[in-house]
Amino acid sequence: MKYSFHKQHTIAQEVYCSGIGLHSGRVVSLRLKPAAAGYGIRLRRMDLLDFPTIPANFHLVVNTFQATTIGFDGVEISTVEHLMAALYGSGVDNVLVEVGGPEVPIFDGSSAHYLRLIEKTGLRELDAPRNFLAIQKPIVIQDGDAYIKAKPCDRFKVRYQIDYPHPMVGKQEFSWTHENGNFGTDIARARTFGFLKDVQKLQDMGLIRGGSLSNAVVFGENDLLNVDGFRYVDECVRHKILDFFGDLALTGMYVLGDFEVRKGGHALHSKFLHRIMSRPGYAVFRPAAVPAAYLAASAVSVLAGHLAHPMKPI
Ligand SMILES: [Zn+2]
Repeated sequence: MKYSFHKQHTIAQEVYCSGIGLHSGRVVSLRLKPAAAGYGIRLRRMDLLDFPTIPANFHLVVNTFQATTIGFDGVEISTVEHLMAALYGSGVDNVLVEVGGPEVPIFDGSSAHYLRLIEKTGLRELDAPRNFLAIQKPIVIQDGDAYIKAKPCDRFKVRYQIDYPHPMVGKQEFSWTHENGNFGTDIARARTFGFLKDVQKLQDMGLIRGGSLSNAVVFGENDLLNVDGFRYVDECVRHKILDFFGDLALTGMYVLGDFEVRKGGHALHSKFLHRIMSRPGYAVFRPAAVPAAYLAASAVSVLAGHLAHPMKPI
């Protein structure tokens, strides 16, 4: 199956899954439904009266603690970032996501399961050009020793650094350029991670009630609790890139830029998006501007190539 990079896409057919919500600990259902060009990505609460629908847009981010939560009028859906990264990384521009509760399933704590679902059904090309958001001039967002730097680039590149005072994590850095097929291989399988010492505190706050070693990498005082070990030696920093990627998808466009992120997180990612979108000149909307660097990869198989993304701003 071929698809062209400069066109919008939806999924070929409806797909269904269910799994545990990380924070609620409850089983939640999720259905992806094909949508028309320009629809973007929207999430619908199927457990509430009138099925309220929330566009996946950074303007609607209401909470960034431990996960990215979107919502309005008191209706929320949380932990959307791993699903968003899978959609973004596989080239799904338009889809309706029906969710049976206040958060999407966590599965194994990565984007792998969502990616497999999308790959299973495949993509359908729509008769509309894709939209891009290009970083236009250098910008730095800082919060203490954490920062996001961005500069113009004709593709999506990121160098991400983390530094945790734990012997199994420490300083990690990973540089990644999104290109033909490499979201699935390099990033999608990296799981979310946490520290045992924080578990009780978070559970007392009503969070991570569904957390377990089957949906997160968990560190003890000096060791890793998961008996199967890491999926990548630098799995933690790769997961941070997954989160960053999923949060950027909330622009509704395919972002082109060269990013350097240190000690980022959902809050800093969100702050960065608000900054570049609210100040003129930092980012420019380029409808259907297919960067030359991507043209060579404009006809790749869906299974082999998780390029692209976009959603129209709503
Ligand atoms: Zn995450």
